[in-house]
Amino acid sequence: MKILMISSETVPWAKTGGLADVVSALSITLAKSGHDVRIVIPRYYSIDKTKLEQLPGEMGTPMGEGVEEWSAVYTTTMPGTTKENPVKVYFIDHEIFFGRDGIYGNSNQTDFVDNPRRFTFFCYAAFQLCRKIKWFPDVLHAHDWPAAVAPVYLKFAERFPGSDFENTVSVLTIHNLGYQGIYHKDNFNYSGLGWDVFYKGGFEDFKMMNMLKAGLYSSDKINTVSPNYAEETKTQALGFRLDGVLRYRSSDYYGILNGIDSDLWNPEKDTNIPQTYSKKDISGKAKAKEALQKEFGLARDANVPIIGMITRLTDQKGLGELFGPAYGSAWSICRDMDLQMVILGTGEKWCENEILSLASRLSNFKAKINYSEKLSHLIEAGSDFFLMPSLYEPCGLNQMYSLVYGTIPIVRSTGGLVDTVENFNEKTGEGTGFMFDHLTPSSIYNTVGWAVWAWYNRRKDIEKMRIRGMSKNFSWESSAQNYVEMYEAARKDRGITSVL
Ligand code: ADP
Repeated sequence: MKILMISSETVPWAKTGGLADVVSALSITLAKSGHDVRIVIPRYYSIDKTKLEQLPGEMGTPMGEGVEEWSAVYTTTMPGTTKENPVKVYFIDHEIFFGRDGIYGNSNQTDFVDNPRRFTFFCYAAFQLCRKIKWFPDVLHAHDWPAAVAPVYLKFAERFPGSDFENTVSVLTIHNLGYQGIYHKDNFNYSGLGWDVFYKGGFEDFKMMNMLKAGLYSSDKINTVSPNYAEETKTQALGFRLDGVLRYRSSDYYGILNGIDSDLWNPEKDTNIPQTYSKKDISGKAKAKEALQKEFGLARDANVPIIGMITRLTDQKGLGELFGPAYGSAWSICRDMDLQMVILGTGEKWCENEILSLASRLSNFKAKINYSEKLSHLIEAGSDFFLMPSLYEPCGLNQMYSLVYGTIPIVRSTGGLVDTVENFNEKTGEGTGFMFDHLTPSSIYNTVGWAVWAWYNRRKDIEKMRIRGMSKNFSWESSAQNYVEMYEAARKDRGITSVL
């Protein structure tokens, strides 16, 4: 199949979260099994264009309000793909929209005011790109709100009898329902779509324009990144006001668990840790622990458990309950328990400040407020436990990394965490992690306390849990197969026979 991924992020060029990992890993896996997969992303200022190849000629994209946008197009091949099965990546280079610092915003403006225009343009530019390279996909696969308008263009402007997109189907993946791209409806004129599409296409949202909602209405199939989150998003509690839309589309709505990149996240091959290790010989993990204690300036002690965290510092991750001034439980966890805690993250200022303040007052709590891929590997390998008290979690990658690195997750029972972690059973010793239901400072305190108790009193169970986690297989192959089945289902619904 010819598959076009439309995304605002992809590793290794632009990443703010799991979306970027998923787009590249899924594409690479699909290409390996013989599909012709291409990715289109914006050429952000931070992407060095001298390392890319420029396609000849400029590309014009006619938008609404009589505007024609001009951009250059660059291309390269995704690292890790072969000549026989390459994933080609295209970069839309539009100076005014993308020639600035930041993907969605920066420290002065957390959400750029022209984001509806930037990403509406990007979605339509994807169609112009196909025309430019004379390559028309069987599947147009859009990711999250910045790409969500592409399926709307397909349905209402580009797919008609005799067109090059006549046999193209669309899929939209929700990586995080909390971000929907809601802007004033005045921005809609710029799309060039008729106002009938504002309503028929599902943009209308209490007089605002909701880009994700339009994609959810207009795509042939939709999915999210774990089966449990797919169910949760159909409820009022976690549906972010779109639960009704998702229930309405439920027969076309899938939950497909993300995989992990097992070349990059594999303790047997990891070049970012002092010594590789496996479940047969786990000695390298102790070396990683030592290196982690040294890196963060913690007391060198093999016997004390280390709790690791790597996270965007946002409310979604349950950080209010952990670090909220005066009520968060991190302070009492570190004060009362014989453990060490390390955190790597960037994000909301209040949270960064609170973490730094805690680190200055507690000798067993250390933090680095930055973004570091390398250090994130050392934390996964060197920690004994990994804490994710998420408010909601579409899939979550870190708990899967933790499991395969023999680091035991302590997680809230939500979203993909439920699909990937099994709670410790004190009677039988079964399980792969420690889980709690309600997100409160005291339940985090109690569950960390439970894990630390097991560390000191049930060491054999802990070692067995480690090995059980390390035996898990979260490779992309089976997830990619589920995506192919969803693509096929979309094609079947439109009466297109299988290309496989
Ligand atoms: P989300 O996509 O909601 O941020 P995920 O767990 O799905 O959460 O994915 C987050 C990804 O980003 C993981 O690969 C995680 O290791 C990485 N990450 C987040 N913050 C940092 C950081 N400060 N340094 C390095 N990696 C980070």
